[in-house]
Amino acid sequence: CGITARVGGDGSLEPLLSSLQNLEYRGYDSAGIAVQNGRGIEISKFEGEVSKLESELADRDHDGPIGIGHTRWSTHGPPTDANAHPHTGCQGRVAAVHNGIIENYTELREALQERGHEFTSDTDTEVIPHLVEERLADGLDPEAAFRDAIDQLEGSYAIAMIVDGEPTVYATRNGSPLVIGVGDDANYLASDVPAFLEFTDRVVYLEDDDVVALTDGDHRITDADGDPVSRPVDTVDWDP
Ligand code: GLU
Repeated sequence: CGITARVGGDGSLEPLLSSLQNLEYRGYDSAGIAVQNGRGIEISKFEGEVSKLESELADRDHDGPIGIGHTRWSTHGPPTDANAHPHTGCQGRVAAVHNGIIENYTELREALQERGHEFTSDTDTEVIPHLVEERLADGLDPEAAFRDAIDQLEGSYAIAMIVDGEPTVYATRNGSPLVIGVGDDANYLASDVPAFLEFTDRVVYLEDDDVVALTDGDHRITDADGDPVSRPVDTVDWDP
């Protein structure tokens, strides 16, 4: 029920955990994080509270400059560790978090299974990283692979994704909220402003079908056709 992402500066882990805690008010049954750190993508996810995720992570060397996080409010599949986000595909090249519902996930999943994909969760979400990995394997670049995957989705969603070896968080929305936080030495992305308000008060509200490529120094927004979109940077004056 909450998405968060961070790119840049030193370790992303602490800020991501803090952002997840800031999103706890939205309600959730599971929490997870994926971090990219030059050794591949590392995912930690558990049914239960963010504090459980935090204590599990205390024993892991699991940090990096780019990460995504999620608090889940189950719609497809019970609250379990396996169903918690982030989800990845067969190759572990992609990690994705999702809020909302993919209405056509059954047919997408069956088609992927016919093409040899094995699934490890009951979620509607898991089709997303599989679709992206399939296109990466075809040779598409990450943004093109992401666009190709979201073109196949029906439903409501906010999605954030990282790709092994890429310094970028890719994200989009359709019917679910998503906001960029523009920081001095890191950029943020979340379902709602309170997630990152302790780090920055400069925000960009995204609209449906916007596709974002977020790096530590830039946020590039394009529409569904790939044409650049300009969205204002607002300063919010709420207290964190
Ligand atoms: N439909 C997804 C799931 O059940 C996402 C739920 C959410 O928005 O947290 O895992």
